Amino acid sequence: MEKTEDRTGLSEEKVVRTVCQDCHVACGVLVQVKDGKVVKIEGDPAHPLSEGMMCPKGLAAKQLIYHPERLTYPMKRVGERGEGKWQRISWDEALDTIATKLKEIIEKYPDTEYAVKASERLKALEKKD
Ligand code: SF4
Repeated sequence: MEKTEDRTGLSEEKVVRTVCQDCHVACGVLVQVKDGKVVKIEGDPAHPLSEGMMCPKGLAAKQLIYHPERLTYPMKRVGERGEGKWQRISWDEALDTIATKLKEIIEKYPDTEYAVKASERLKALEKKD
């Protein structure tokens, strides 16, 4: 990866090769980082599947990361759907709630197949570099 420093040594700039996590496609991404902040996101032309292409959603990831109202903790709906009433909950409660609901669904529909997306796929891609 390309890495540069300014003459004072106080500013560091680098390009990080990764994959977009905004959907299951996982397009290859080059992220330009300056002083620990993302300054530019573009498609990675060396990625074997996406070949430098990214959709508008992936290209807008910088706005998602730095949006002042970005949600950084789990919330649980406490009102009726569409009412806009939410309550902050812990990560443990969120994970327990999801696990319980998934178990209920699997028990209710035993003949249905399910898929769960996890980040292990990303680790596998990153190991190839
Ligand atoms: S760039 Fe678009 S299509 Fe590619 S992984 Fe991200 S969201 Fe999905």
